[in-house]
This record gives sequence, structure tokens and C-alpha cells, in this order.
Amino acid sequence: MSSKQKIGIVGAGIVGLSHAWSAAKRGHSVTVYERTPKAYGASIRNFGMVWPIGLPHGKLYQIALESRDCWLELQKKAGIWINPCGSMHLAHEEDEWEVLQEFANIAPNLGYDCNVININQIIKKCPSINTTKLKGALWSPTELCLDSPNAINTIPNWLKETYGVNFFFDSLISKIQHPEIIDSNGESNSFDQIFICTGHDFQTLYPSIFKSSGIKQCKLQMLKIGSQPNGWSMGPHLAGGLTIRHYKNFQSCKSQLKVKERYAQNSPDFDKFGIHVMASQNQSGDIITGDSHDYDQPNDPFANEEIDNLIIQEIEKMIQLPNKKIKHRWLGLYAKHHDLIQFINNPESGVTIVNSTSGLGMTLSFGLAEAFWRGEVLTKNQPG
Ligand SMILES: Cc1cc2nc3c(=O)[nH]c(=O)nc-3n(C[C@H](O)[C@H](O)[C@H](O)COP(=O)(O)OP(=O)(O)OC[C@H]3O[C@@H](n4cnc5c(N)ncnc54)[C@H](O)[C@@H]3O)c2cc1C
Repeated sequence: MSSKQKIGIVGAGIVGLSHAWSAAKRGHSVTVYERTPKAYGASIRNFGMVWPIGLPHGKLYQIALESRDCWLELQKKAGIWINPCGSMHLAHEEDEWEVLQEFANIAPNLGYDCNVININQIIKKCPSINTTKLKGALWSPTELCLDSPNAINTIPNWLKETYGVNFFFDSLISKIQHPEIIDSNGESNSFDQIFICTGHDFQTLYPSIFKSSGIKQCKLQMLKIGSQPNGWSMGPHLAGGLTIRHYKNFQSCKSQLKVKERYAQNSPDFDKFGIHVMASQNQSGDIITGDSHDYDQPNDPFANEEIDNLIIQEIEKMIQLPNKKIKHRWLGLYAKHHDLIQFINNPESGVTIVNSTSGLGMTLSFGLAEAFWRGEVLTKNQPG
């Protein structure tokens, strides 16, 4: 996009904010519409993990590192709380340990910065780790921890002050007819370019495109455990065998299959509910943990206690928490595509739908938006 344009964005989650920032940096005049008084979507319901280690090597990993730099820039410029805590994948079984060692061997050639560590080294990073059955861990210094509600609600003010981006909250957009964005009161504004960044709910504006997109909505179940005693620190983000069987980076390891098969045979409930358990610690000291994945009934509003119990069982396997009281339970919804990391579509000239379909929007969105505004439309990984 060459000359300075009027850009209208629908949705103030991480995808809308990323495009607002990228456009504003380039001198465009940007306006963002958000239907709720502040963002309440997937972007505030997550773990707050910036998780490059989970991405397959190649272009996507580079995009995740670019996003990471953007978050660190926001830490300095917008005062957003970020803990550069890194991550540990813990192995409690021989087959998990095999995957971590296989990955650590190939990782430097693939561009990852990580190594395996022994139990003493794990304890130094996370003094409350549960050492029962622990074999070792994969340590990566790259991952960041955000307090997502804080970050997502701070960025609009910063964009407004720094670049004059206009925000209209409590503003439901009911129709797009380029060049007009029309709200539910029938008021309209015109823009050169319109971006639809409405997360799992872009079917309200473009139902037929949503239907044919191949996107599925996914419901996730999450928990907050706290408050932990003052000064108690978990250390790095934690993940375990369920994550080792799940994330794409480990698909480069032949030994991953054994872990998948063991879980499928011995603990089928984890597969049934799509559970893989991770933990982060926010700025108040609370532990954010989850999650499960339900693609069959994403709109079913009920949380399932059986899922909570399985998540807690896995957390207890990883760490001895001083306080185990559950403070909050919530559901999140996101859009997911089996093949695409983002769905990009032009339903009419001047209108672009940008939908994060990776399940890793906090990790990728800044980098993907920058790539888009540089003219690279990336929807799949390009192996390095
Ligand atoms: C439980 C859970 C855990 C996750 N954990 C992580 C993690 O740790 N790390 C990571 O990288 N990713 C994580 N993700 C994924 C990540 O949160 C999402 O990929 C990302 O937040 C999607 O951002 P979004 O802007 O597309 O959607 P949203 O955050 O949902 O934003 C869309 C916005 O559009 C608004 N909107 C919709 N329709 C309209 C309309 N018609 N008019 C006006 N406004 C509208 C909505 O109100 C909403 O605020 C997680 C997701 C979930 C659900």
C-alpha cells in the first residue's frame, strides 16, 4: 500500500491491534471498531505465552521471533508487563525424554536456541518442580510471558497516544459495503481499505465465506490458580508430555509417535478432550493453566469438571504449588484451520478478512501483520 490511506479495522483483539500498529507505523490513518467496551475475546483468554519454540522451523519460526521483538518493543515503549521467562518441556517418561533429546540434537541446525537440562538444573530454574519420575527437560530461553488482559487493553491507549489511532469501543459493526463500515446504529464511515479481524466470529459479517473457509471454531477450557504467596516464582513456562505429543516442532522427531501412541492407549481421555497442559505465571503471581480443545460443540456453554480434574492432575505432576485454590475458570473460543496459519480473503475490493487460525495468535500476529504490510501474504509455513 503506497500512498497514505484511511484504514478501518473491525476487532480490537491481537490481530486487529497488530494490523493497526503496522498500518499506523507506515503513516496511514487508522480507526479500530470493537463491539465490546474492551476486548474480551481469545486475546485476553489465553495463557499469555509467546511461544516460538512450538512452531515448525522455517519462516513461521522467524515470524514468531519477529513478533517476540515487537512484544519487547512494546514492553519498553508502552510499559506492558513482560517476563522473558523462557520455557521448560518436562519429560516424565523415557519416550518423552527421547523426544526432547532428539529435538535438542537437531534444534541448532533448524535455528532453535534450546538444550536439554538435568534435574539439578531444572530445580535451579523452578525450585518448586515436582521431581517424581522427572527425567529431564528441554530448556528454551526464547519464550515470553504476557499478562494478556493487561497487554491487550494497554495497546489501544498507546496506539492512540503514539500514532493517533482512533478507537471506537462498544461499536458493533453490522455491515461492510466498501468503502463504508456501518455500525448497528446505522452510522457509517468510509475507508480506503477495510480489515475484518473479528476472530472466531467473522461469520456475522461474511457468513458464506466463513462457511466455505474450512475454519472450525474451537472451545477451550482454562483455569487460574492463585494467589500464590508473595515472591513465589514458578520460573519458566511449563509444559509436559501432552505438549510433546501435540506441538508441530516435535514432528521433526521420529520418537514423537511413541509418545502419541502411549497416550492414545493408556490415557485416552486426554485425546478425547484434546487436552495438553501448560502453565504460565502472570504479573499477579497467579498460575494460568489449561487447556482442552472441543471442535464438535464449540458453542456449548458448559465447562466440564472432568477436564478441570485432568488438567489439575497434570499440573500436580509438574509442580508443587503453594496454593492450589482455583480462582477463575473460563472458556475461550478460537478459529482453527487444519492447514492455514491465517486465513486471508478479499470478499470485495478494498476489504480483507484476516483470521488467525493457528491457535498461536499471541505468538504470531505482530510478525504476520508486519509481513502482510511488507507485501508478503503468508498463510503456511515455508520450511527453512
Ligand atoms: C484458551 C486459549 C489459550 C490460548 N493461548 C495462547 C497462548 O498462550 N499463546 C498464543 O500465542 N496464542 C494463544 N491462543 C490463541 C490466541 O489467543 C488467538 O489466536 C488470538 O487471540 C486470536 O486473536 P483475534 O484478534 O483473531 O481474536 P479475538 O481476540 O477474539 O478478537 C476479535 C475481536 O473482534 C471483535 N468483534 C467480533 N465481531 C465484531 C463486530 N461485528 N464488530 C465489532 N467488533 C467485533 C470481538 O469482540 C473481539 O474483541 C489461545 C487461545 C485461547 C482461546
